[in-house]
Amino acid sequence: MAVERTFSIIKPDATERNLTGGVNAVIEKAGLRIIAQKRIQMTRKQAETFYAVHSARPFFGELVDFMISAPVVVQVLEGENAIAKYRDVMGATDPSKAAEGTIRKLFAKSIGENSVHGSDAAETARIEIAQFFSGNEIAG
Ligand code: GDP
Repeated sequence: MAVERTFSIIKPDATERNLTGGVNAVIEKAGLRIIAQKRIQMTRKQAETFYAVHSARPFFGELVDFMISAPVVVQVLEGENAIAKYRDVMGATDPSKAAEGTIRKLFAKSIGENSVHGSDAAETARIEIAQFFSGNEIAG
């Protein structure tokens, strides 16, 4: 299997509850390496750009407000099959449907405030990483 990179966000509900280390422990236990990481306060513009694909959805405004409500931790994760693996580690979008041991089952508060983001495909991973990191900030 190919070594891939994926983009991750530890969302405001998790940073607010001091769960950055807790989330990172699950990521690392799954064999993914955190090869870039920074804590930022996202701007409204950044959040709208990041979630542009959801701009027509009824929850878009709520989602953007949530993403800028507190700092987030943006990350690049690397490992074999990292994109699909991290989606598994995250668990279902709705934490009530997430499998045992997943980040969302362990930590998420609701379908909106669900603790983490992870890219869904190679192309989106590339675009999302480039939105938040420049080359020399990633050290794999
Ligand atoms: P993901 O890939 O599992 O993060 O899920 P999606 O791409 O479908 O949705 C993106 C994000 O939008 C989710 O992680 C949630 O934070 C948010 N979201 C999705 N569905 C809902 C919803 O029904 N209500 C609210 N408030 N937020 C939602």
